[in-house]
Amino acid sequence: MAKVAIDISGGRILQENTIVGIDLGTTNSLIARVVDGQPEIIKDYGKPALVPSVIHFGAAGSIVVGDEAHERLISDPANTIYSVKRLLGKTYKDIQDQRAFFGYQVLDDATDSLVKIRVGERFYNPIELSSFILKELKQRAEHKLKTPVDRAVITVPAYFNDTQRQATRDAGKLAGLDVLRIINEPTAASLAYGLGVGIQAESEVVAVYDLGGGTFDITILRIEAGVFEVLSTHGDTWLGGDDFDREIIRFWCQQQGWEETKAHQDATWGQTIRLVAEKAKKTLSAQAIFVSDASENGLGSDLRLTKAEFDQLIQPLIQKTLDSCRQAVLDSGISLEDIQTVILVGGSTRVPAVRESVKAFFGKEPFDKIDPDQVVALGAAVQADILAGNRKDMLLLDVTPLSLGIETLGGLMDVLIPRNSKIPTRVAREYTTSIDGQANLKVLVYQGEREMTRDNRKLAEFELRGIPAMPAGLPKIEIRFLLDADGILSVEAKELRSGVSQEIKIKPQYGLTDEEVEHMLLSSLENAKTDFEERQITEAREEGRQLLYHATKFLENHGGLLSEEQIQGMKAKMEALEHLLTQQDKSAIHAGIESLNDYTRPFAEMIMDEAIQHAMKGKKI
Ligand code: AMP
Repeated sequence: MAKVAIDISGGRILQENTIVGIDLGTTNSLIARVVDGQPEIIKDYGKPALVPSVIHFGAAGSIVVGDEAHERLISDPANTIYSVKRLLGKTYKDIQDQRAFFGYQVLDDATDSLVKIRVGERFYNPIELSSFILKELKQRAEHKLKTPVDRAVITVPAYFNDTQRQATRDAGKLAGLDVLRIINEPTAASLAYGLGVGIQAESEVVAVYDLGGGTFDITILRIEAGVFEVLSTHGDTWLGGDDFDREIIRFWCQQQGWEETKAHQDATWGQTIRLVAEKAKKTLSAQAIFVSDASENGLGSDLRLTKAEFDQLIQPLIQKTLDSCRQAVLDSGISLEDIQTVILVGGSTRVPAVRESVKAFFGKEPFDKIDPDQVVALGAAVQADILAGNRKDMLLLDVTPLSLGIETLGGLMDVLIPRNSKIPTRVAREYTTSIDGQANLKVLVYQGEREMTRDNRKLAEFELRGIPAMPAGLPKIEIRFLLDADGILSVEAKELRSGVSQEIKIKPQYGLTDEEVEHMLLSSLENAKTDFEERQITEAREEGRQLLYHATKFLENHGGLLSEEQIQGMKAKMEALEHLLTQQDKSAIHAGIESLNDYTRPFAEMIMDEAIQHAMKGKKI
């Protein structure tokens, strides 16, 4: 396979502005760029480089991010959002067990839709919240550099799934950034490391052990003549320094006879003890004992913790990370002895017990010449520099320059393989039908960066025929994209319940000149805002159409249970919604949906009651 760093811009458009690298962390975030071949953190005048990933919403509508927001954790916990990265791309069901961890209100909507956070009268999703952090970083960088910053490489944990990656990308877009690439934090760290020690001529295998505030990743890479190849990765998106803090809190609660649930019932108390616990943990990275006086800690009791006690508390958590390491080494096909370097990343690797355990596991002293807080952002900047075409000595495995996807309802582009994905690659995603008894499904394959398929390039069209009759939503249609090392795409559609399938081969790059690629990228930047708005309207319309479809079905099947007045009331609401769907107003469409939903909710309950009564007939309790 040809190993080339693809300069997706043709080297022209990307060099006008700085491309930055961003480490969007659970606890802290950082922004960096490359100057004269060396990555450096961008630090705004008089402000610390590390920006706490905390957002505070003031009463008068003000939004502040960073240290100032961090200070409000105790005084105004309900309006101060932290660890939002833990919620990115998650549904309420995913996080309900951990809900107590959050001092703010995570909405329980008992659905499979992505979580929302309530702040005062407004609801935010984690994408919007993350975009506030990114905006802050962008503004600080622009202030310092006195130049627009609108292109970025953003890092994510290697273990982030597609939804979480997409959410990170969307957050970037919302912040006014064109996200040229999402790269894995450990890969970024290895890039910074590779640059730091000089590009090795010979092959070297490195392990990146990344333990941050909320996530743990272990990645095994081979660096060979400047080519960085990920061999395996493993981790846990819910394991980090925050869990160390929680162990300390639990310990003190037991010791003092405090109810652990107090932290959830009283947000201010919860935040106070959380911050004291974090302070204890950090202190024990340098000292053997931590003592906190009742007069100053705000908790009414003297608290203490020794390093030995702390080490014992976190031992099971460290063990979990080592289990992941063992799995990653196994998956890489490399033996433990062949790993030459272990790179430490993330604030939690400052804990001595973590370092010692890592050292014992890998049998060597970890490399820690680069600040573990900064190494990811520095590496992201190196990646940005490679994409800008400024580095020819560090090479990436071949990538695909434009996204590949299919058209979904409303003409939306659903990207299966995002641009810059390493090839070869394969991706599968499940879809379903929107109409009862639908027998055929048309699959339209597109390439490009715009939200609406009509603005992208159509590569192929084919039909999956013979889907057995099933109600809408029941068929499980898997669309599989396989992009081989030559850039040839095969697409397969398969109905999983019946096994019906159809396959075609496409050459996606065919006929696209560099200029066309450049044009598509440029137009995606220019149109990002209108595209985004259009997408929101299209999604709202689609939701409205689905609701109308179900409402019509409802009247057909259960109309007999309703009074004439109720039927007319429902029809009026439906007509009103139908009219709104022809308008360009997303909020009005949402209001129409809400209104019809509210009106019909009691009817659904009525039918449930009826069904239960029916089922209970003749049965004895
Ligand atoms: P990161 O997500 O990489 O920014 O890591 C943040 C985590 O590192 C948080 O849980 C911090 O409490 C933790 N951390 C930062 N500094 C230290 C330290 N000196 N000792 C122990 N943990 C630390």
